[in-house]
Amino acid sequence: MSTPTVENVVIVGTGCAGLTAAVYAARASLSPLVIEGPLPGGQLTTTSEVENFPGFPEGVDGFHLMDNLRKQAAKFGTRFEQAWVVSVDFSTSPKKLVCSDRTILAKTVIIATGASPRMTGIPGEKELYGGKGVTTCATCDGAFYRNMEVAVIGGGDSAAEEALFLTRFASRVHFVHRRDSLRASKIMAERATSHPKIQMVWDTAPVAVVGVPEGAVSGLKVKHVKTGAESVLPVKGVFVAIGHVPNSAPFASALDVDANGYFIPAPGSQVRTKVPGVYVAGDCADHVYRQAVTAAGMGCQAAIDAERWLAEHGG
Ligand code: NAP
Repeated sequence: MSTPTVENVVIVGTGCAGLTAAVYAARASLSPLVIEGPLPGGQLTTTSEVENFPGFPEGVDGFHLMDNLRKQAAKFGTRFEQAWVVSVDFSTSPKKLVCSDRTILAKTVIIATGASPRMTGIPGEKELYGGKGVTTCATCDGAFYRNMEVAVIGGGDSAAEEALFLTRFASRVHFVHRRDSLRASKIMAERATSHPKIQMVWDTAPVAVVGVPEGAVSGLKVKHVKTGAESVLPVKGVFVAIGHVPNSAPFASALDVDANGYFIPAPGSQVRTKVPGVYVAGDCADHVYRQAVTAAGMGCQAAIDAERWLAEHGG
């Protein structure tokens, strides 16, 4: 019977964090294996133009950026395989990743599975998502809405932060919240509710994004939850900020996660976990910054740590 292959480094996820980790691990001659899920390239592939990634003064198409990053990782010897990790066993050596069709063995594992923005599910949201007016990232897309009216849906810190950021560009920000008080921290709530450009739309639930036939947002239909009255906000952009869901479930039993499912790194590190040789990187372990460049930075750290761990423990 042949001995099963034990990988040096298995990287789960192909967003900015995973592919940056792959570039570093591959350049260190570790021949990393990257496990690709159903959204190759991660969240950036759903953004039309990225204007804040360092080194691109003219901006760069999100899909193009990820495609280049993938080519860069492949150039140094990264291997890619399609698989879906269902569960893990990190108590054994080598570590086990149980996928739907096979089990992968690894000396080190970098989990870079990202987080999925939570969506409202209202009609028009999906159809107009990504470059057509519905977005989940003001930092990425806010600048496209100069002197236009926009809506932010949500009521937590993310929504307050998005609304405040959008005041730099938009002529008016309609902050749509389904209750009569924000869940956001007091300081963020006060800043948002007192900003002259932010119009609070209390007790109001989103009903539909208007503009599907034209292929671009022309309004947000909303309903007052107490009176039932419906109206249309005249907005060109709809920013959905109702939280994120970290893609940590298959790994959560083996590692520490917080109440929202985000990985909690070991003290003194952004990427090490309580299991030696297992690292986390990017949005699955970061609910604060959530940027392509910060995810890339974490991927780099994780790969360097994995390389050092292998050097110490026999790579
Ligand atoms: P969150 O605190 O869970 O807030 C989600 C908001 O969306 C809630 O106000 C909720 O309304 C609303 N919502 C949920 N589903 C909805 C739906 N289907 N339709 C309309 N509204 C809906 O999420 P978050 O704001 O992303 O924050 C997540 C965590 O990250 C929090 O701990 C937050 O403090 C933290 N965070 C911190 C910072 C910072 O420190 N700078 C920035 C961002 C986030 P209800 O209130 O009615 O439930």
